[in-house]
Amino acid sequence: MAKLDNAQWREMMTYMRKKHSTICRQWFEELVPVALDGGLLQIQTSTAVQQNYLQKRCLEQFTEAAQVATGNLVAVRFVDRPSMNQSVHTTPAVNTNGAPASNSVVNTSGAATVGVGVSTGDGHSDQMVLSPDYSFDNFITGPNNQLAYAASVAVANQPGTAYNPLFIHGGVGLGKTHLLQAICQQILANNPDTNILYVSCDAFMNQFLECVQSGKMNEFRHRYRHVDMLVIDDIHFLAKRDRTQEEFFHTFNELYQSNKQIVLSSDAAPSEIPDLEDRLVSRFGWGLVTNVSKPGYETRVAILKAKAKLRGIQMPEEVTNYIASKIDSNARELEGAFTTVQGHAALQEKNIDLPLAQAALGDQPGGGGAKSNQVTLQNIIDVVTEYYNVRLSDLQSRRRHKSVTEPRQVCMFLARKRTRFSLEEIGGYFGGRDHTTVMHSIRTIDDRMKKDEMFGVQVNQLDAQIGMGTVSASNSLAESLG
Ligand code: ADP
Ligand code: MG
Repeated sequence: MAKLDNAQWREMMTYMRKKHSTICRQWFEELVPVALDGGLLQIQTSTAVQQNYLQKRCLEQFTEAAQVATGNLVAVRFVDRPSMNQSVHTTPAVNTNGAPASNSVVNTSGAATVGVGVSTGDGHSDQMVLSPDYSFDNFITGPNNQLAYAASVAVANQPGTAYNPLFIHGGVGLGKTHLLQAICQQILANNPDTNILYVSCDAFMNQFLECVQSGKMNEFRHRYRHVDMLVIDDIHFLAKRDRTQEEFFHTFNELYQSNKQIVLSSDAAPSEIPDLEDRLVSRFGWGLVTNVSKPGYETRVAILKAKAKLRGIQMPEEVTNYIASKIDSNARELEGAFTTVQGHAALQEKNIDLPLAQAALGDQPGGGGAKSNQVTLQNIIDVVTEYYNVRLSDLQSRRRHKSVTEPRQVCMFLARKRTRFSLEEIGGYFGGRDHTTVMHSIRTIDDRMKKDEMFGVQVNQLDAQIGMGTVSASNSLAESLG
C-alpha cells in the first residue's frame, strides 16, 4: 500500500501549524499517516473520540494541508485504530469537490457511535461531537468549580449510582459543557460499549417535534429511553414548551427508574428556570445540584497554562499573567483572548511575548483596538434581541425563518466585529453552527450593508448602541476573512 513520505507529512503538519495554528493541538503529534491510496490519505488517530472530532471538525483544514504538501487533489479520512482493518477494505468514495463522501467514514468500534448523539436523518446537524480537549485531565479546578468537578468524576466512575441526576448550572463559559463531555469520555474510556446519548436541549426538542409531526413517536421513545446514560446540555431551553417538558418528564422517569445516569447542564438552578414545571424542578433536585462560578485569578492563570500546553505552544509567564488579569469574566473569554494572541503571533510569524499580546488585545495603538474588550456577547445579544423582538433561544435554535435568521446573522456579524471570539466559538454559541456558517452570515450582512443603505444604517445604529464606534460597511469585515 502506498504511503505519504515523511517529508510530505512533516510539510503537511508545518502547514497546519502555520495556517491553522489555533486548531492545532499537542496530541496531533500522535497522528500517523497510514496509507495514501487512490487519492485518499488515511490518518490514524489514537482514540475514537479523536477520530470523530477530526473527521467532523478539522477535515477541511487537513485536506487543504494534504493538497499543499502533495501537490495533488488528495482527500483525507481519519481512521481509528480498531477500525483500520475494516476501513482499508472499503473503496473510498470521493465527491466531486475532492472531499470523501460522508458515508465513507468507517467506524466499527463500539465507542465510535458514542458522542455523536442521535442521527435525525438530516445527517450531522443535531449531533454533539465530543472534543478531546474537554477531558478531566484538561479541566482546571479551583474554589469556583471544585464540587462540580468532584461530582462529575464520581458520576463518571459510578454512573447511575453516585448522583442521579447530576445537575450542573452556572453562567456562560464556565466549563459546564467541558464537564459534561469529560464525563462522557471517562465513561467511554472505562467501558467503550456504554450507550451514551449526548445532545443539546435544542436537538432534543427538535427531534421530539419532528417525530410528533411524522408520527414516529415510538422511534423517538426508543432512542431516548434505551440508553445507559442521557446527557442534555443547556436544559434551561426546555422552558415554556409544555409538550416537550411532558415528554422529557416521562423520559426522565423511565431512565431514572432503571438506574440509568442522567446528566444535565443549565444556565440557572432548577428553581430559577422560568416556567419549568414543579415536578421537573423537584426531580432535578433528587440527585446533586451543583454550580460552577467565575474562576479567580490563580485559576485563570492555570487555565491559560493548560490551554497553552494543549495547543503545544510556548506562552511566557508574564503573558499568561497579563491575560488573566485583563480578562476576569469566564474561561471562554480567556480562551478567546488567548486565541487572538496566538493568531497574531502566527500572522506576524513571531513568538508570543508581552508587547505582542498587548497589541493583540488592544492595549496599544494599532493592535486589536477595534475589538474592544468591553463588549461581551451578552451586550450584543441584548441590543439585537430587543431591536428584533426575538429571544436568545430563538437565535440559538435551528429555526431558519427570516425573522430569526436576520437577527442571528447580525449577532454573528457584530460578535466577530466587536469581540475576540473565533468563528468556531461564535458558531458554537449560536446553536452549534460551524465556522463556515458564521463566515457566510458575516458575508451576507456585509454585502447587504453595502447594497441596502437603510439596512446599513440600522446595523450601524445597533453597533453604536452596543458601545462606541460604528461598523463601516466598506471597510469590509468579510474581506478580512479571506
Ligand atoms: P459553558 O458550557 O459553561 O458555557 P464551556 O464548557 O463551553 O462553558 O467552556 C468554555 C471554554 O472554557 C471551553 O474551551 C472550556 O474548555 C474552557 N474552560 C472552562 N472552564 C474550564 C476549566 N475549569 N479548566 C479548563 N478549561 C475550562
Ligand atoms: Mg455549554
